[in-house]
Order: sequence, then C-alpha cells, then structure tokens
Amino acid sequence: MNVAVLGAGISGLAAGWRLQQLGHAPTVYEADGEPGGKIRSRRMDGYLLELGPNAIQRSGDSLERALDALGLAPACLDATPAGKNRFICLDGQPEPLPMGPLALFRTRLLSGKAKWRLLREPFVAPNPDDESVAAFFSRRLGPEVVTRMIDPFVSGVFAGDPEQLSVSAAFPALKALEREGGSLFRGGLKAWRRKRKSAARQPRDEPRKRGMFSFREGLQEIPAALARALGESLRLNTPVANLTPAGDGWQVNGEPYEALVSTLPVTDWSAINGGAFPAAQVDYAKMAVVHLAYPAEAVSGRTDGFGMLIPSVEQRAILGLLYSSSLFEGRAPEGQQLFTIFIGGQRHTGPLPGTDNLLRIAAGETEDLLQIAAGAGPAFSHVHIWQRAIPQYGFGHTDFIRGLEEFERGHLNWAFAGNYRQGISVAAAFESGLAAADRLAGRLE
Ligand SMILES: Cc1cc2nc3c(=O)[nH]c(=O)nc-3n(C[C@H](O)[C@H](O)[C@H](O)COP(=O)(O)OP(=O)(O)OC[C@H]3O[C@@H](n4cnc5c(N)ncnc54)[C@H](O)[C@@H]3O)c2cc1C
Repeated sequence: MNVAVLGAGISGLAAGWRLQQLGHAPTVYEADGEPGGKIRSRRMDGYLLELGPNAIQRSGDSLERALDALGLAPACLDATPAGKNRFICLDGQPEPLPMGPLALFRTRLLSGKAKWRLLREPFVAPNPDDESVAAFFSRRLGPEVVTRMIDPFVSGVFAGDPEQLSVSAAFPALKALEREGGSLFRGGLKAWRRKRKSAARQPRDEPRKRGMFSFREGLQEIPAALARALGESLRLNTPVANLTPAGDGWQVNGEPYEALVSTLPVTDWSAINGGAFPAAQVDYAKMAVVHLAYPAEAVSGRTDGFGMLIPSVEQRAILGLLYSSSLFEGRAPEGQQLFTIFIGGQRHTGPLPGTDNLLRIAAGETEDLLQIAAGAGPAFSHVHIWQRAIPQYGFGHTDFIRGLEEFERGHLNWAFAGNYRQGISVAAAFESGLAAADRLAGRLE
C-alpha cells in the first residue's frame, strides 16, 4: 500500500518507519529542510543547544524499543545523578521538590495547614465530571498544592494554565485513579498492587534503567536515525499544499495515494484542509527558548540539578530554567555553565517580546535567581521562538479527539497522529505515530 505521511516531526517519522517495517511504501512529506519538527538540537561555539525538548523520561515504552532496533540505544546519554534534584522557586530561592512522603511533610513549599489537608485526600468524594486541572487538585489536595506545585508543574510540561486545562484530557491517568479507587491515594495503591502482581508473574530480565536520557549531540539524533532508515521515502522541503480525495484514495500535491497519515499540528492541518474536516479549536502556547552561558565561578546559586520551575505567584517574567550543563555532560565548554530559560506560555497574552528584550529578561531573571556575579556575562546567548510550541488540552479536547476517531471510522484509509492525540511528550507523540500506522495497516489488510 502506498501511503502519504504528512509531517516529519517525531510522530510522522514513527508512522513512516512503522509502515516501512510492515512492508508498505510510505512517502513522508516535510515542509522544513530537516526532520524532527520540535526536536531541534544545535552545536554552536562548543555548546549543545536544545531548541525544543531537552530530555526523555525512560519508561520502557515503544520509543526505547525502537532505539534498540535503530541501533541507537548504546548512544543514549543518561542524565547525571544531579539531574534527580529538581527545584521550585519559593520567595526567589530554589526549594527542593519533595520526592517522597517524608520529604513532602518536611518541605518549606507548603504550610503546616496545607500538609494536614493532604491527609484528607482519601476521604474527598470523587467528581465524575470533567473539571480544570486546578479545580481537580484543589479539591483533592488543597489550594496551596495547586499554587506551589501543580501550577509550576503544568508550566513546565504544557507551558499551560491549570485553570484552562481539562483534567480528563491533560491527566487522564489521574482522573482514572480517582474514578477507580475513589481517591488518588486508594487508586494509586490499587494500581501499584496490580503492577507488583503482574511484575511477579513476568520472568525477571535485566533491571530496567530509569531516569532521563538524551544523546551526546542532542535529541535530534533520534529523528536523524529515523530519517536514515526512511531514506528516499522522506521528502524534505516539500510542504503539503494540496490535498484532495481521489477515487478510493487521496491526492497529495497532485500525487495519488491509497492511504494517508496526518501528523501535522492541528492548525497547519486545518489550513490545508480548507475547513473540510470539522476542525479543531486547539490552542497552542507560544514560547521563547533562551540559552545563556556564564563562567562557572561567577554562579553562586545552587545549580546541581535538573532546573527550577517558577510558580506564577512568584510574579517572575520566566516560566523556569534548566541547568542544561548540570543535567547532561558535554553541553558546554570546560568552565562554563549553560542554562535554558523558558518565557511565554499560555498565560502570556499578546506577542512575545523581541529578541533583545527576551535576552534582557532571561539574563536579569537568571542572574538574580542563581546569584550570578554582576557583570559576569553572559559569555554566550541564543534565542529561539516557537509561535506554536505546545498544544493545550483544554475543555472540549476530549470531544475533539472523539471527532477525530469518528472521522477515522468514516475514512478507513486515513489516520491522525501527533502530540495533540495521546500526550505531548516525545515518547507519546512517537507512540501515536506507531499506533496510526498500525491502525491503517490493520484496517486495510
Ligand atoms: C520548547 C519545547 C520543549 C519541550 N520539552 C520536552 C521535553 O523535554 N521532553 C519531551 O518529551 N517533550 C518535550 N516537548 C514536547 C515534544 O517535543 C513535542 O510534543 C513533540 O516533539 C511533537 O511532535 P509531533 O510530531 O507531534 O509534532 P511536530 O514536532 O510539531 O511535527 C510536525 C511537523 O509537521 C511539519 N509540517 C507542518 N505543516 C506542514 C505542511 N503543510 N506540509 C508538510 N509538513 C508540515 C512541521 O514542519 C513539523 O516538522 C517540548 C516541546 C517544546 C516546543
């Protein structure tokens, strides 16, 4: 079967690769001059910059199995042990994110009253209806947890606003814990017991690796390997401008195909489709990614960690920053520290500031938060702007996905994939590409 795959972000590359493995003939159309979409790594002046995603969380999923198959697994670069330390900004200072129940009861992030409130979680009645992420966690864990922990977490993952995200769409697994167990505590306990039981039944192989990983030359090594595997099936600099039904199949830029996988961001897809598909109101948060480097001896603040997230109550001009050269080796020349600063997000109204202002804002906040000596730098700087960085799983998102599923049932030679479908992480987008290819192949065999 010859299949057009639209887009060569990680989801399109995954779909094309899987179709090729299943013996089909994919043609992957990509508007850009390089594969990878939001995954974009750059080596500049001895620094390794990630303009999009920085790290992937290991979870033993299909992405890791694919890295094995592509021969990339030995090249994985694990995060340094310091990467386990994560910080949340509290009154302008880094406060360690509590990683266990004891740490939670010791943390300065929550008042004594808020900690007592946590003990009530198992007794809070479940709510069968959808609600905002803020309302869900406020109801279950208390409002302070939302302000101090959920708000910065949602900024870090979605660049989003917890008041606007739907908990059923953005965190379906947590909503399911509440539904199945009556509370997060009991639901979590049940899920843990189930997992332990099934693990006991499995033959024991090597202990699974955990933590975050990347590669020496950054995450773009993954799309580069998939592009090599796809060979001439991948067409770069080839935007899809024209898409029409043709007989039992589709014509893409005038060429006929039996089937089609669309992995384009919803906004790009709607633009091509000219409104034929009952389209989507998916908002994308905009984001500026600023890289700054300073001489290590000029930085007095604590940087032995993953980075620091900033709750909106702190009223800072940045969403957070990653300590890039502490997280992975080889990110900066000897003696320099590299930081990645995120500005913008869904709460930011109006256009993002211009490059000079972004640099000024990022430098001001970084120097203040990390106590960097006045006049010390930066020794290196770079700004990248994503006008549509991350899709927001707002109210109506689950209906939108139901609409896509219905469209697919009515068009058996069509499948959708992408980071708006089953999670925004690189691994989830990759998985959605594989699933789309499998669905198509299964339906049309
Ligand atoms: C700043 C930032 C930081 C992130 N950090 C992390 C992280 O640390 N860890 C993590 O797991 N995830 C992270 N993410 C999320 C993750 O990177 C993305 O969700 C994922 O890479 C998206 O993949 P995709 O294939 O769905 O979409 P995209 O990568 O957006 O790919 C879509 C492709 O379609 C192409 N296209 C568009 N229009 C056309 C057209 N008309 N014709 C042909 N091609 C077209 C685009 O050029 C693009 O290549 C981050 C995202 C951003 C923006």
